Amino acid sequence: MHSQQVTAEPPSNARAERDSTVGEVPGVLPLTFDVIIAGCGPTGAMLAAELRLHDVRVLVLEKETEPTSFVRIVGLHMRSLELMAMRGLLDRIVQHGRQRPAGGFFAAIPKPAPKGLDSAYAYLLGIPQPVIERLLEEHALALGAQVRRGCAVTGFEQDDHGVTVELADGQQLRSRYLIGCDGARSTVRKLLGVGFPGEPSRTQTLMGEMEVGVPQEEIIAKMTEVRETQQRFWLRPFGEGVYSVLVPAAGVSDRTEPPTLEDFRQQLRTIAGTDFGVHSPRWMSRFGDATRLAERYRVGRVLLAGDAAHIHPPIGGQGLNLGVQDAFNLGWKLAAQIRGWAPDTLLDTYQAERHPVAEDVLDNTRAQTELLSTEPGAQAVRRLLTELMDFDEVNRHLIEKITAIGIRYDFGEGPDLLGRRLRDIDVKQGHLYGLLHRGRGLLLDRTERLTVGGWSDRVDHLADPTADLDVPCVLLRPDGHVAWIGDDQHDLDTHLSRWFGKPAN
Ligand SMILES: Cc1cc2nc3c(=O)[nH]c(=O)nc-3n(C[C@H](O)[C@H](O)[C@H](O)COP(=O)(O)OP(=O)(O)OC[C@H]3O[C@@H](n4cnc5c(N)ncnc54)[C@H](O)[C@@H]3O)c2cc1C
Repeated sequence: MHSQQVTAEPPSNARAERDSTVGEVPGVLPLTFDVIIAGCGPTGAMLAAELRLHDVRVLVLEKETEPTSFVRIVGLHMRSLELMAMRGLLDRIVQHGRQRPAGGFFAAIPKPAPKGLDSAYAYLLGIPQPVIERLLEEHALALGAQVRRGCAVTGFEQDDHGVTVELADGQQLRSRYLIGCDGARSTVRKLLGVGFPGEPSRTQTLMGEMEVGVPQEEIIAKMTEVRETQQRFWLRPFGEGVYSVLVPAAGVSDRTEPPTLEDFRQQLRTIAGTDFGVHSPRWMSRFGDATRLAERYRVGRVLLAGDAAHIHPPIGGQGLNLGVQDAFNLGWKLAAQIRGWAPDTLLDTYQAERHPVAEDVLDNTRAQTELLSTEPGAQAVRRLLTELMDFDEVNRHLIEKITAIGIRYDFGEGPDLLGRRLRDIDVKQGHLYGLLHRGRGLLLDRTERLTVGGWSDRVDHLADPTADLDVPCVLLRPDGHVAWIGDDQHDLDTHLSRWFGKPAN
């Protein structure tokens, strides 16, 4: 089975796609699911959960039979922590991670964050990737998503009504949409024929977590000494004697083979003159610095999200965050399309909003990679930027970029808050984000005289003159971005239509 390129867009949603007859084609498999997601990494699991909030029938197909055991600590940045709070997940997730200061991540320049960052969750949460993946999968399952492991997607065909998905064992399944959350080597993206332009990997780095046999002072002294040279290595403590170790892979081990402890020892001895007695590795891996972005996020009924749509070096720790945020942007829009209330262009705003965000992340990782170079020119720029980061505004700008709280979608002319996400603020019922768990829109109304009228089946209304806002009212999308600001009912109705379609009555 080959992927079929279609130019036809899905049918008008004047009629809910969920109507039982829509999408059924004589002679073709029955539609068992609304959405099939390829890949149960963090992006796929988050998307499945978001769709389930709207009662969309979701199947996640994961090629691996067991969840990953590869213990890489990833950092959840402020915006992702906010999303977790918006869905009531943060308390559970925080228990499994370690809170760290929000600053010091841009090109690993160790500047503390300035005071007053615009978030109620102004920290970084370090958490093992398998743990966050498990928690997100459990969340999706608890909401009713189905996950089938040991099922690799190997092909699909799409038509005007749905997608027929083929698995490695030859089985076929049919759904209305297929979403490729299948990682950097995405089968879905390749079969779709979507270009993935960018730069190939130039350098490889070995990364692992292991114990060391020397005191921390000795490591710090050696790192300071080596920093004066053209060489680089990193040993960062992760608690209980365990260190995260990064060394260039050049010159050791075959690129196609998993790295060994001896590879790490050899590189440390070459660069630092000692291997610090590293032993007992928890895990070891290798990564490159390839940077690529899918040309399109959508072809008809097939869409891409997460690493399937973009890859970049891990510097700054943004990849998982970016994927989870893609899922958050796409989930409610795709659900609206399936449930029949999406305005005609809503689903296409996914690419319009998220593609530029990924472009920006790719660019900032390119810049950070240059700043890590040991070339004299790059080192001079790094010293200059380090000085500039003493200005709080510069430091804040870079932190807002890396943590994604600075994102402003283009919703047209309007106040600066329009298109940005609203931070978690105090409202009379507690915290704003506590009102967003169900993934619905929200009108936060300080005037107490507006109404969501015929949209009340998809938009909640909180009249609260005491809300900690300096504008009269905001309309929030289910992803927490500000879709409208004002105090006029007619204007509000126009914007409710723009984002939430026709009123129910
Ligand atoms: C060294 C390193 C450190 C990093 N640190 C951070 C960090 O601190 N913060 C951060 O945000 N990000 C970090 N990242 C990036 C992060 O790990 C990825 O961006 C993230 O895993 C992407 O999630 P995903 O769900 O899109 O893709 P993946 O995690 O790759 O998941 C894709 C899933 O799809 C499955 N799959 C593949 N093909 C198929 C198929 N044909 N059918 C069905 N299933 C399929 C795979 O088995 C996998 O489970 C780091 C990456 C590296 C290499």
